[in-house]
Amino acid sequence: MRGREVVVIGGGIIGCSAATLLAEGGARVTLVESTALANGASGRNSGSIQHPFDPVLGALHIRSLTLYRDLEQTDAFGLPAEPAGILLLTRDLDDAAQRAADLQDEFSDLGAVALDPQAVSQLEPTIAPGWAAVLVHSGYPTRPDGATRAWVARAARAGVDIRVGAGARPVMEAGRIGGIDMTDGTHLATDAVLLAAGPWVPDLLPSDGWRPAITRTWGVTVQVRPAAVPSHILEEGTVHTINVAGGMAVAGSDVPSIFSLMPAASLATIGSTFVATEPDPALVAPLLLERAAAFVPGIASAELIGFRVCGRPQSADGYPFIGPVPGVEGLTICAGHGPWGISTGPASAELAVASMVSGTSVPNQLRAEREVRPA
Ligand SMILES: Cc1cc2nc3c(=O)[nH]c(=O)nc-3n(C[C@H](O)[C@H](O)[C@H](O)COP(=O)(O)OP(=O)(O)OC[C@H]3O[C@@H](n4cnc5c(N)ncnc54)[C@H](O)[C@@H]3O)c2cc1C
Repeated sequence: MRGREVVVIGGGIIGCSAATLLAEGGARVTLVESTALANGASGRNSGSIQHPFDPVLGALHIRSLTLYRDLEQTDAFGLPAEPAGILLLTRDLDDAAQRAADLQDEFSDLGAVALDPQAVSQLEPTIAPGWAAVLVHSGYPTRPDGATRAWVARAARAGVDIRVGAGARPVMEAGRIGGIDMTDGTHLATDAVLLAAGPWVPDLLPSDGWRPAITRTWGVTVQVRPAAVPSHILEEGTVHTINVAGGMAVAGSDVPSIFSLMPAASLATIGSTFVATEPDPALVAPLLLERAAAFVPGIASAELIGFRVCGRPQSADGYPFIGPVPGVEGLTICAGHGPWGISTGPASAELAVASMVSGTSVPNQLRAEREVRPA
């Protein structure tokens, strides 16, 4: 790869970290972003770097943390030294005890413990009475765009040619990459392209060829300033259906959503919806706040700061697609991280880069050409 021209399409967490690693490995890299860097989910997420409670994604997360620690040394983005801790909230203490035991069996490093409602109130007085929880030693609150912007700074130093404002489409000729066409009329010749355009990736591939099973699940988050900000990351429920299925309908709500709260200094980010079509955030925000107040009563009187909406690149089985695109020599994909792209993105990018540079194989569950079984 040394000296070779590579084009990376997409300026989110995946594209920016992959472009950096490729350039640092000696490739001549052009990163093409159609709108603005960190303009998709990588700039509008909740900002939690946390364990996804899944062994495959968990391995990506742990490696990503190491890459983030390195990044923090040179391009600080506010990664805390210690996790804030996550409280998985439930009304059912037995459910909490079972979940804590299961997590402890599978991921002992997370130190999961069940807390009864009294212990929850003592630990986190902002929470309404009656909630039991599983306390998990994970969850680093960061600025939503912080990690991606830190990679951009490092990419620029590594010599990546960053082009913003025109979209790119790979040009394929006789089963191999011939270059990219850009919407400003530019053609770049290259025989190596990495598709890192998140939920837009399927649109960049021919409709009659292989396409990854990636769709958008739209997430609205609301930023508020409560009188007292919780010190832990809060999440509804102890069963993480979102790590495989991309969402669940919550009883009593018209909008599929899962309560989450991310502390950020004097603010809290309240999440989030999981819906298939783009919602109007102004309509959804009051619903999210009403639900949130059942967990943290102070949210009801918190000052509204704003809201954000964007689409998660959700794969059908919950795992990203990484590695060579079947049937097109020189084309590699790294996309489909659903709700976990900030927590697992840099390690995924590293796998994609290794497969491009040295043909290193990607773990079976993550390979682009795996058989995808819906979760
Ligand atoms: C509400 C919400 C909260 C979330 N919270 C968390 C969280 O707390 N922790 C966590 O780990 N994850 C979280 N996520 C998930 C995470 O944000 C995503 O998985 C991750 O950002 C995806 O990164 P990406 O680089 O694949 O895609 P994106 O960030 O979508 O980036 C893709 C980029 O490609 C560009 N692009 C598209 N088409 C083209 C083209 N033709 N040419 C050039 N550029 C193109 C787009 O403009 C975009 O900038 C959250 C997501 C949402 C929606």
